This record gives sequence, structure tokens and C-alpha cells, in this order.
Amino acid sequence: MSDLRELYQEVIMDHNRSPRNYGSLEDANRTAEGFNPLCGDQLQVYLYVNNDAIIEEVRFEGKGCAISTASASIMTETLRGRSAEDAERYFQAFCALATGDGETFDQNLDLGKLEVLNGVREYPARVKCATLAWHTLRAALRGDKTPVKTE
Ligand code: ZN
Repeated sequence: MSDLRELYQEVIMDHNRSPRNYGSLEDANRTAEGFNPLCGDQLQVYLYVNNDAIIEEVRFEGKGCAISTASASIMTETLRGRSAEDAERYFQAFCALATGDGETFDQNLDLGKLEVLNGVREYPARVKCATLAWHTLRAALRGDKTPVKTE
């Protein structure tokens, strides 16, 4: 178990050091802002969603702690090429994973790398760091113009 922990830690640090899909997206047609005052994490999510409701491109930028940056980075890798409907399913699954409320999501969903963040459930303050990107993504998909606040 501690080996697994270490591996998870390494994946998180790697995504924090070199976040994937980082930067703004010029032809974004959905965007939202998120803020976690508790930790000071701040990010912007950019999406290009096509006419078939497929997320063709997803990027983010901002500044925050290792957990929030890694979570956003892994989220973009997970969601690129998926439908908006799938994104909602992953949102539910990830929030369940991060809070430890594992019964409430579709167990058939392949969480892949998202699993590395399951350790945050032991640190309630960090749950908001981990879920910030996801709440922001959801706001972007819904066309919500009000910045997301985790408080
Ligand atoms: Zn944070």
C-alpha cells in the first residue's frame, strides 16, 4: 500500500511540475473561472466543444497548490475527446472518489489516473483543491458566467 501511495505521489508531483494542456485556448467556445479561497487556488478552464457535444479541446491555466494543478492537468487528459455527458459522469465519479463517498458513482467508469488523487479524502481541506478544476469545468459546460467558488 505504501508503494502505491508513493507512486500516486509521484504522479501528482509530475503533473504539478509539468502540467498537461496548460495555457489558454484561442478558439475556446466555453470558459469558466474557479477560485478556492481556502488555499488560494485559482484557475481558468477553456473548452472547445463541437456540434456533437464532444470536448475536442480542453486546457487550463492559473496558479495553485500541487493538488489543484495536478488535478486540473489529469482532468484535461481524461476528458479530451469525450462527450459533455461523459464529463458529467466523470465529475460525479471524481467528487465521490475525492470525498470517499464511493458508492454513489458508476463503478464501470474507468477512472484511470484520477485514482491517484484518492488520498485527498483524508484531508478535508485538500478535497476542495482537488475538485476545483472539476467544478470549474462543469460551470464552463453549463455556460455559467459566475466564477466558481468552493466556499
Ligand atoms: Zn490548494
